[in-house]
Order: sequence, then structure tokens, then C-alpha cells
Amino acid sequence: MDDDRRSNAEGIAGRKQRLSDMQHRITASLLYNLVLCPHRVERDMFSDPIEKDPPNAFVELLWERGSAFESSVVEALRPEPLNLRAGNDEARVRATLTAMREGVPLIIGGRLESDDLLGEPDLLRREGDRYIAGDIKSGRGLEGGDEGDGGRLKLHYAVQLGLYTDLLERLGWSVARRAFVWDVESREVSYDFELQQSPKTPGTWWDAYQSHLELARGIANGVEKTTPALCGDCKMCHWMSACSRKAEEVGDLSLIPEVGRSRRDRLGRRFPNIRAFAAADLTAIAAAESEVLKGIGVGQALRWQARARLQLDPAAHPYSVTELELPFGETILYFDVETDPMLDFCYLHGFWVVDVAGKRFVEFHAADATRAEERSAFASAVDFVRSLPTAPIVHYAPYERVTWRGLGERYPDVATADEAQALLSTPRAFDLYHGAIRPHTIWPTRDYSIKSVAKHLGFSWRDRHPSGAASIEWFQAWLKSGDPAELQRILDYNEDDCRAMEVVLDALRKLPVKTH
Ligand code: SF4
Repeated sequence: MDDDRRSNAEGIAGRKQRLSDMQHRITASLLYNLVLCPHRVERDMFSDPIEKDPPNAFVELLWERGSAFESSVVEALRPEPLNLRAGNDEARVRATLTAMREGVPLIIGGRLESDDLLGEPDLLRREGDRYIAGDIKSGRGLEGGDEGDGGRLKLHYAVQLGLYTDLLERLGWSVARRAFVWDVESREVSYDFELQQSPKTPGTWWDAYQSHLELARGIANGVEKTTPALCGDCKMCHWMSACSRKAEEVGDLSLIPEVGRSRRDRLGRRFPNIRAFAAADLTAIAAAESEVLKGIGVGQALRWQARARLQLDPAAHPYSVTELELPFGETILYFDVETDPMLDFCYLHGFWVVDVAGKRFVEFHAADATRAEERSAFASAVDFVRSLPTAPIVHYAPYERVTWRGLGERYPDVATADEAQALLSTPRAFDLYHGAIRPHTIWPTRDYSIKSVAKHLGFSWRDRHPSGAASIEWFQAWLKSGDPAELQRILDYNEDDCRAMEVVLDALRKLPVKTH
């Protein structure tokens, strides 16, 4: 586009912008949230902010880390970029357009507006006489895949970059429908919107961006209505309490562990609430209406129905659907690690030891955030486990095994990856969650996490707000302050996680078996 047409487009965009100032703007963060949960977008637009939960310290920690990472990347950028972060919004929009007209090679903190779209790409980079947009991300630019074989573009990054590219296109400054991510591994990852999303997903990444934009506009205009669907992401969301109340009030199917949003939507077409689902003859329905359980299966649906029925019974008790094979031994080690996944750092290995001498907590922690300390704690934990070769090791879900395998790859002189993994695999170890709780038992709880299951059995954590995310926050606080009380809080939390496993395993030994 030549300069006249370009400035015409900018002028029209500016006028349209003023007209739509009263409307909801579609931003990159809005599209990011839309990928995680459409209901969050609706709530952010229309719900009373008084219903929001207080700020989540862990989310703030993530935010701080993202900002620190972005600053470190920006400082190292060459050629030195033009920084447009300062100033009011209107001035930044004007300055961004001026900088592009002047052909500035690299712009940070630019602001683009057109119609109802608003974007603030971290980077605008000149290519020829036009620009492409880029974002600095403190995560990996791709998901899945192994080192070397790439992986897949991330949808929540793609929709953000799609918005910036769309804005550049509308304003006449886009070089092509592609953008890039500068990721945590210092890689520039290209996001080419002309590519098909995956062999199984027809449609390009541009189509994906467009469909999300359309949905966002539908929500903004009140045409699309959404409802809460409880899932793992809710724990990081400021509407958690409000959505939980709503889900309880209407008996939403997402209250059943593992149902989630998409299967809730599918089942919801036939069963308006958890009570209707619990009462249904699923086998007969599957035979007569094949669409209802398509992609779910009768067996899975019957398991969810058993969970739903238990949730609806105030006098409900958990039960097993088969005879359980559980670990026995004179000594049993209940094991839990604490890690900071964003730093790929393991700072604590905790064991609740139950043997003929009694019960005690044994722990090995990193005294600082260096690799030397991480290695030292890992080496001590491996030595401890090897010193008790016949003691079963009980853990909850595969995270401990995955973590030790990763540590084995990093410190093969302590234990190779295979050796470390073998220590936490059958026959030496027992995964309480995948070996018993999830496949073979039914609980009246909202999820099958160790917290929910152990609390149902009457166990309580000493800390009022126990969580792995909080533990990371406490570890960071302890590194800064050196306050022993901060360290003790982490140790107590980890010990309680380990002790909770003992409570759950003991309960499993006594659980009634119901096969119908
Ligand atoms: S709490 Fe969950 S369902 Fe509610 S808005 Fe947040 S992510 Fe969506």
C-alpha cells in the first residue's frame, strides 16, 4: 500500500476507533483468556468486579517473572529498539505510526488500533518497507515435540499474534501473515498463519485466529452466552469462587471430576444438570441415541455417573470398584518433591517414613537456587532411597518420577535418567493416584487431588493455604529473606502432603468393594 492509501486507512481507522470507544475492545490478552476459558472473557466484560477473588500471589509471581524476562531480552536487543512504552495511549498510537513511516528498524511498546481491535505487540520489526509483530514469552514458543523435532504452535500465542498481524494488515503495514515469538530458550519461533493447524485439524492458523475473534465479538455483543466449566485452569482465575458458586447452584456437569468444558458441553445437550445425568439410564441412551456419548463411551460415562451419584448423596462414602493391590512393607516411604517448573528447578525431596520404629519426616532441600545445591539435594535423596532397598515408595501421580528422570539427565553422576526413573517405577514404587484412586475408586469429591481426597478423610494441612504454587512463592521468599520460618513453612507443607498419602493409603485398605 502506498503512503496516501496508508494514511487514508489510518485516518478511517482513527475515526472508526472513536466511534467504537464505548464498545468492548478486542485485545491480545482477551484472546489469550478466550482460549483458556470463554466464560472468563464474558465475566471480565460484564460481571461485577466485587465478585473477583483477591489477587493470587502466584499469578503475580508469574507476572513479575514474565516482566523481568522481557526486560532482560529488551536490554540485549540489537539494533537498539525505539522504545514507545511511555506516554498516553493516543500519543503512543501516533508515535507507532510515525515510527513505521520513518522506517525505524525495531520498535518496542508500540500500540496499534483499528475498529474494535487494540494491540500492543512487544516488538515491531521492519522487513523491507513493512513490519511483522513479535512477542517476548517467558515460556517455550512451541508445545509438545522433542528437542530438534520442533513441536506445535501454541493456540493461545497464535491468537495474540494473529491480532497484531491483523492490525498491521488493516493499517497497511503488514509484510505477510506471519509473526514471531522470542521464547524462554532464546529462540525466534515463526508463527506462519498460512499453515494448516495440524494434520488432524483442517483450517489454517489464520482461520483459528478469525474464529476466536468472531467468538470474542459475539461475547462482547452479548450474542454468545457462556457458562462456567470448572477445570484445572480455574485455580489461577480470579473468578474461581464466583464460578464455583454458580456451578454448584445449577448442578453443572463440570462438577464431576475430569468432565471439563468440552465434554460438559456435549453431555449438557442431553442432561441439563448433574441430577439428570445421575438418574439417566446411560446404557439405554447410548443404544438409542448414539450422538449423546460420542467421543466419550459408555464405560467412561458410567464412571462419571457413579461419581455424580456419590456427590449427590449427603451420606456418601467412597468405595472401590475392584479388589485393590496395594503396597505392603515393614518400611514405607511416602514421597513428594517441590519444584519450580518455570525455572526447571527442584528444591525439596520429602519422605514420610513409616517403619517399626515409628514415623518421621526426612527431607533434603536445596539451600539456594544454584544447580550445585539442586544436585546435592538430589544426591542425598537418591542415597537415602538406595539405603532402604526393600521399602516401597508411595507417591501421588507421575510428577515425582518425571522430576527424578529429569534430574538424572542433568546429574547422571548421581543416577542416570533410567536409574532415577526405575527407583520411582513399578515394582519399587506405587503411584497412589494412577494405581488405585483414579481407575479403581469412586469418591464424592469435586476432584481426585490428594488435597481433596485426604481432606474428605478428615486430614488437614497445617497451612491455611496449601498448594504447590504457594510453595514456590514461599521458596522465593525464603531465598530473599533467609528467614528460617519461611523454610519451615515449605517443609511443613511438604511433610503434610506426604502424611496425607499415608492417610489415603490406609483408607484404601479398608474401602468397601462394590462391583455394581
Ligand atoms: S473460574 Fe474457571 S470457569 Fe470461571 S471464568 Fe475462571 S477459568 Fe472460567
